[in-house]
Amino acid sequence: MGCAKNEVDSASMARTLASAGYVICDNPAQADAIIINTCSFIQAATEESIDAFFEAASLPNVRERGAKLVVAGCMPARYGEELEEELPEAQAFVPCSKEDDIVAIIEGLIGPARPAQAVYESAVPVEVAAGATPVRSSYFSYVKISDGCDRYCSFCTIPSIRGRYHSFTYERIHDDVAREVAAGVKEIVLIAQDTGRWGQDFTEPCTLAWLVNELAEAFPHTWFRVMYLQPEGVTDDLLQVMNDRENVCSYLDIPLQHVSKPLLRAMNRAGSGEKFRTLVSHIKQLVPEITLRTTLIAGFPGETEEQFEELLDFVGEGLFDYVGVFPYSREEGTAAYDLPNQVDEDTKLERAQILRDEADAVSATLIAARVGETLPVLVEGIEEDGQLFGRAQCQAPEVDGVTYVDAGTVGEWVKVTVVDTLMYEMEGEEV
Ligand code: SF4
Repeated sequence: MGCAKNEVDSASMARTLASAGYVICDNPAQADAIIINTCSFIQAATEESIDAFFEAASLPNVRERGAKLVVAGCMPARYGEELEEELPEAQAFVPCSKEDDIVAIIEGLIGPARPAQAVYESAVPVEVAAGATPVRSSYFSYVKISDGCDRYCSFCTIPSIRGRYHSFTYERIHDDVAREVAAGVKEIVLIAQDTGRWGQDFTEPCTLAWLVNELAEAFPHTWFRVMYLQPEGVTDDLLQVMNDRENVCSYLDIPLQHVSKPLLRAMNRAGSGEKFRTLVSHIKQLVPEITLRTTLIAGFPGETEEQFEELLDFVGEGLFDYVGVFPYSREEGTAAYDLPNQVDEDTKLERAQILRDEADAVSATLIAARVGETLPVLVEGIEEDGQLFGRAQCQAPEVDGVTYVDAGTVGEWVKVTVVDTLMYEMEGEEV
């Protein structure tokens, strides 16, 4: 469930279990144990995870044949023992910090792995057997470079769920990238709660710019993309790496959350509309072709009509190519939960929609302005009617649009000229 960071954790648990001899089965109705890797970032995500849990609990293999239920990830990390009381149907709870122990936990529940071949034949045919890499349905892959967060934004549950910021070592990241590249991946998306802080907690501090540069050099035929970079993490060195290396996408996802200074302070965040404008203009001076994405929160406690208008005007300026908007979610255990002047639900939803409409209009205009540009597209698939599609560097997987192309091979790059656009999608003809 949940975000790309959780997907990486799920894949990692699958890989560890497969290496220990267990067969990863993509049909829960045929499994001996079902692991629900939950998300609990906001209330809506918790509810979705609970729905998934009860869906699994109602399967015949669970009800009649004693298949085990394991609740992993953010939900047990956030709710601890309280959750164990709420979900007595589960046999194990594995918070994020204990996911490395998944083999011992599964062994305790269903016994040691049986000979893979025998099980494999009776299970749904999937491409994951003992020691193999999990099924790959696309040509990009997320690689986590750190976990946790020290920023304590007042609305956010992550620091209490994931703990303090801790960077993964270069060797670990390199190995994760190497494994994905060997499996055929062509684009690595580097993620973390706060990518810009990578390396600062080492005894000998290091920088994200160094990391990206090293990886881009070590894997010259792979695209690298950096997501979730807090404004303070944007450095000239990183922008220089984007300029120097063709395989580092000229793309940044910088979550701003808001632009009103008093609201940002109430969020326990730095910056202001003016500071963000200066930052964007500096970035574009150094990397003129860069594509920028951000996320914003509508209806944070105390957000006045004027402050909302300030945010709306900022979106309308078109500094960011893509904007994700979320209505504020009041989460127990966060500092913002107790703030006065909570905005009512209807107003939050209405403001979020107004922002989204404005963002859609801005994005469509900026994307339409790309007609005539020539750019490489990583071809990722083919639709039922034979239409090839892929993504350019200006399109991050899963959140932005795609580019339809008239030529190329799936899993390879094709150079195209953009000839048309429709909202978030582009159409390209081979050069
Ligand atoms: S930077 Fe703020 S919003 Fe992002 S994970 Fe950390 S505390 Fe949460």
